[in-house]
Amino acid sequence: MKKICQLIGLALALTLPGCTWNHSSGKATSVKWVPDGLPAVPTNGPALCPGYYLKPEQGKAVLDAALAEFPNRASWDAYARHLRKRIQQGAGLTPWPQRTPLNAVVRQRRVHDGYTVENVAFESVPGYYVTGNLYRPLNAKSPQVVILATHGHWKEMPGRFAADMQYRCAALARMGAMVFSVDMFGHGDSVLEVGAEAHKHPFSLTIQVWDNMRALDFLLSLPGADPERVAVTGESGGGTQSFLLTALDSRVKLSVPVVMVSSYFFGGCPCESGLPIHRSEDHFANNAMIAALAAPRPMLLVSDGADWTQDTPAIEFPFLQKIYGYYNAATKVANVHLPDEKHDYGPSKREAMYRFISERLHLDLAAIQKPSGEIDESHITIEEPGSLHVFDEAYPLPQNARRSAAAVENILKKLQSGASERKL
Ligand SMILES: [Zn+2]
Repeated sequence: MKKICQLIGLALALTLPGCTWNHSSGKATSVKWVPDGLPAVPTNGPALCPGYYLKPEQGKAVLDAALAEFPNRASWDAYARHLRKRIQQGAGLTPWPQRTPLNAVVRQRRVHDGYTVENVAFESVPGYYVTGNLYRPLNAKSPQVVILATHGHWKEMPGRFAADMQYRCAALARMGAMVFSVDMFGHGDSVLEVGAEAHKHPFSLTIQVWDNMRALDFLLSLPGADPERVAVTGESGGGTQSFLLTALDSRVKLSVPVVMVSSYFFGGCPCESGLPIHRSEDHFANNAMIAALAAPRPMLLVSDGADWTQDTPAIEFPFLQKIYGYYNAATKVANVHLPDEKHDYGPSKREAMYRFISERLHLDLAAIQKPSGEIDESHITIEEPGSLHVFDEAYPLPQNARRSAAAVENILKKLQSGASERKL
């Protein structure tokens, strides 16, 4: 009798969209899953999950419930497809916008010890310039590893101008990778375009996902880029960007989200939790579950003892090992936990990332090591922000630049509606 029920269940799962057959518990599972015990949904407006949306014990309970609901690869795969759709939708990117020419400009090449730095702008949508720096190995061997470096929200020496960012990009370039450090929307040179206030608009979440996808388009268009070895890494809000991009873009083959993957903290900025990517009428996912969409691609979680990643070794990492285990890939997810450290992308966190990426993507770690094996970043030149800026008096912002978040959002929406390029 049980056998017959299983067969009926299997037939239902094959015929009903949104259903999958749960072999271990012997029941049909719907991917339209919202766990019990969540805070109430507001009666008007989207179901947002800002900041510390859950208590730590609730975050763990959600992960336990998810494992019980999706206990094997088939059920998780079905749920993962549903979750990706809901994240894309929640982010305001359904349908995907039409891709338009990048019109990339790469200029002002500086030669340093074993690597070069250039200033870059490209149009993620017509008239919005994504800005950043391209670090490349000197005397590079092709094909080259491609890495996108995202940044978090820091008051002092922000974003890609920070020494921490320059160290990690330059070190990876010395090791043989081409690395692009990208400005957040309304940060760095983007301030000149849309102003700093633009970042506080929830559209910053939308455009940053799109900008990062277009950044991969840009990197993969460069001579020597290896589409089989593409990575993304960032800290804090840059960690959020890392796991969102990895969840939505299968071109990412490896990710290192730093000090961000938590079961109960959802990110405090509108660019992380200002849109309903975590919750809707028929889905719920905390950031550990979104990070799990990386499986079975290699992923390193770097966590510390002073923020919402303090319980990673006991909570989020075991959850991810179980999800990766569904793919017989439990060894592809790793955690380096630094209990005496704080919320940053400091030297020991960078070292963990260097070792993980070099081992998995075959970079030359020795290029940043002393003979003793100790990591050595002393060959790296930290540039002043003035030389890293893309637009200045010599290279002014192009005439067609859009000057507000609303103007950029307007053009993105047109690209979603299938408007021809002539009408943009
Ligand atoms: Zn933000």
